[in-house]
Amino acid sequence: MTEMKVEKTASRGIAIAPAYIYREVDLTPDTYLVEESKVQQEELQFQEVKQAVLAELEQLSQENPIFAAHMAIADDYTLQEGVIGRIKSGKRNVQQAIAETVEEVAEIFGQMEDEYMRERKADVLDIGKRFLLKCKKITVQDLAAIGEPVIVVAKDLFPSDTVKMNPEFVKGIITEEGGVTSHVSIMAKNYGIPALTGVSGILEKLKSGNLICMDAGSGRIAIEPEGAVLEDYRKRLEADLQEQEEIRKYRSMEAVTPGGKRISLCINVGNTEEIKLALDKNIDGVGLFRTEFLYMENTHFPTEEEQFAVYKEAAELCPREVTIRTLDIGGDKNLPYYEFEPEENPFLGWRAIRISLDMPDLFRTQLRAILRASAFGHIRIMFPMMISVEELVQAKEMVEQCKEELRKEQVAFDEDIETGMMMETPASVLLAEDFAREADFFSIGTNDLTQYILAVDRGNKKIASRYDSFHPAVVKAIAAIICAGHKYNRKVGMCGELAGDVNAVPKLLELGLDEFSMSAGNIDYVRRAILNG
Ligand code: PEP
Ligand code: MG
Repeated sequence: MTEMKVEKTASRGIAIAPAYIYREVDLTPDTYLVEESKVQQEELQFQEVKQAVLAELEQLSQENPIFAAHMAIADDYTLQEGVIGRIKSGKRNVQQAIAETVEEVAEIFGQMEDEYMRERKADVLDIGKRFLLKCKKITVQDLAAIGEPVIVVAKDLFPSDTVKMNPEFVKGIITEEGGVTSHVSIMAKNYGIPALTGVSGILEKLKSGNLICMDAGSGRIAIEPEGAVLEDYRKRLEADLQEQEEIRKYRSMEAVTPGGKRISLCINVGNTEEIKLALDKNIDGVGLFRTEFLYMENTHFPTEEEQFAVYKEAAELCPREVTIRTLDIGGDKNLPYYEFEPEENPFLGWRAIRISLDMPDLFRTQLRAILRASAFGHIRIMFPMMISVEELVQAKEMVEQCKEELRKEQVAFDEDIETGMMMETPASVLLAEDFAREADFFSIGTNDLTQYILAVDRGNKKIASRYDSFHPAVVKAIAAIICAGHKYNRKVGMCGELAGDVNAVPKLLELGLDEFSMSAGNIDYVRRAILNG
């Protein structure tokens, strides 16, 4: 038996299940040079791999037409000539020939004038990966195929991995990298899956199928436990389930403080499934709809119609307010079909509202979809990562332009839709009063606010103990935001992870926070804490 202790909890809860080890694949091509006598053999291998890739794409194209376009690229003359030429005259092995050719072709697409064609670069790179996987005979582990209870253990998990997991079978998550506010933690909390991140060295201590017990609340993990230790975890799992039962008794009560203030209790979601799962929790609405997941789970930028369908469903599912945050991509969130230029400091880089303002067509598509959905419920628009009032004014102008277009097209929308903003940068704190004049509401994003105020990366496990949303500087910033918002009669909410932390409730109530928005798994606990003051 091996026991490990972790300092911080990503998502509380207890789980007992076998380990499912999820490994990243290494697609580095072989580097050997081909002898003249083996050239034909390498060429033949390429043809076989190509046929296998085309067959796979054909199958996929039946579900999604994007793969028909991938077939055309995979079957293209340029790719074929490039690879064969490199094998014959460059004596490259098939893997290296493919990697070099794909890079060259992708670069050609990347340089094109037309934006649509430029974006095809990501498709070419994706096809290249498919060829290399086939050459190396690697089958990618499919997290969506997990069909029995497991604890997923990985070096790191990206949002595109976590979205595939079925919470019915994934009983726990353990990663070597990542911090408590990394997106894997947030997803785990949304689904109520116990999770521990930043668990260095666990992969070395573990084989697939080993029994793991984890108590994420106290940061404890036991591998292949026996006797009294296993019994102890079983008892704690039982007690945990009982507490969840007990706490449900508060569900029907409105969140009112002992002083009589009615607090709005909302959920954070990344898709409409999560709204459905939380509907029985007596919520006051969705305080944060992270729309980036809609973009990340796709093979292309979602169209206006595709987005409209999702936002409309959200509005109809949740008749109370649904706060839709415009695209917050970049940082640790990438898109499979769009290549971001590498950045030294992605969290200080091209992300969120910066991308929306720089790519107005993309922004407009989203705003039109949100506005159209606003005719079906109570939707609010929220902008992320604001650092200047000019940005807010510009974003609001775009909303007005879209409204005008829709009026002309005689398409219904909510004329009084509110536009608010995340308060998550130091600049927004210092300019809070100026922002309060322009924004209809604030929502404090403590995940980013903490990392930017303290200069502590939210995903870096080495400094996880320094990442502290209770740091006096962060608390002062929160107080200043609430004060500025209230001065201009704006409702101030919080949708960062701190809002779901029961230990923070008394302080946040004292500071006057109006709305708490969190992962659905925390709602019952926070409601009890609010009722108790
Ligand atoms: C935040 O920064 O607190 C927040 C809610 O946004 P995200 O975690 O998606 O960056
Ligand atoms: Mg944020």
